Amino acid sequence: MAESATLAGKVALVTGAGRGIGRAIALALGAAGARVVVNYRESDGPAQAVVEEVRANGGEALAVRADVSQSTEVEHLVAQATETFGPINILVNNAGITRDTLLMTMAESDWDAVIQTNLKSTFLCTKAVIRQMIRARWGRIITIASIAGINPNPGQANYAAAKAGLIAFSKSTAREVASRNITVNSVAPGFIETDMTAQLPADLKAEGLKRIPAKRFGQPEEVAAAVVFLASPGASYITGQVIVVDGGLA
Ligand code: NAD
Repeated sequence: MAESATLAGKVALVTGAGRGIGRAIALALGAAGARVVVNYRESDGPAQAVVEEVRANGGEALAVRADVSQSTEVEHLVAQATETFGPINILVNNAGITRDTLLMTMAESDWDAVIQTNLKSTFLCTKAVIRQMIRARWGRIITIASIAGINPNPGQANYAAAKAGLIAFSKSTAREVASRNITVNSVAPGFIETDMTAQLPADLKAEGLKRIPAKRFGQPEEVAAAVVFLASPGASYITGQVIVVDGGLA
């Protein structure tokens, strides 16, 4: 990787990076020169394929299994990442799930799973790397929220609450660490073509498409581009913000 690459010398950790938006972010950060830790929860095949793709592009990467909603697994993840590449400079909180259903039929387990995976994981991962960033006097924390955290649809009370919580978490943390040269921002995607949205019923997708001014769904790479920008030196004075990547939907 060329020394002149924007993120040369930086270590990036991307959670839930085996597929979808996380995969695109890991590849884009790798292409920008960062050494990338590709976190995954279940199947190591796709995560290993992401690692191979970063390497094929001249970069360095490592796949580490961890369920980021569990504190002991997050500690292990950060320890393994740091042992291999050194302190983490860029954290991308991307891992997320949906358990969509109307409030009346939402089980307590649907609520807990979504809050734990989408919101608590970000608290755990951010807390696990923040001291390293303070010591290095440089850090970038980027959290993948959603327009559901800004303009929620029905049937997503758990997901919308988690995503709005992530935006507030990022703004609060941004104020705490701004003087340490650490920025904390959120990226809020609209409708992006991944396995997550592939599950949605066709009529809901057709209805959604009609409301998008760009008249198409977004691609994971279009979210990754915003993340790379926020991680780049050019974004050094941007913190506590939300960049919406939604083709004009919100
Ligand atoms: P996806 O389902 O394709 O990918 C999510 C990834 O997170 C998967 O690889 C999954 O294994 C991983 N993951 C889930 N729980 C985990 C855990 N506990 N520990 C580690 N990894 C875990 O979905 P995606 O569309 O790529 O979504 C990525 C992020 O973007 C999510 O936070 C999602 O809420 C957000 N988002 C997606 C869209 C969209 O339209 N696709 C829109 C807005 C926000």
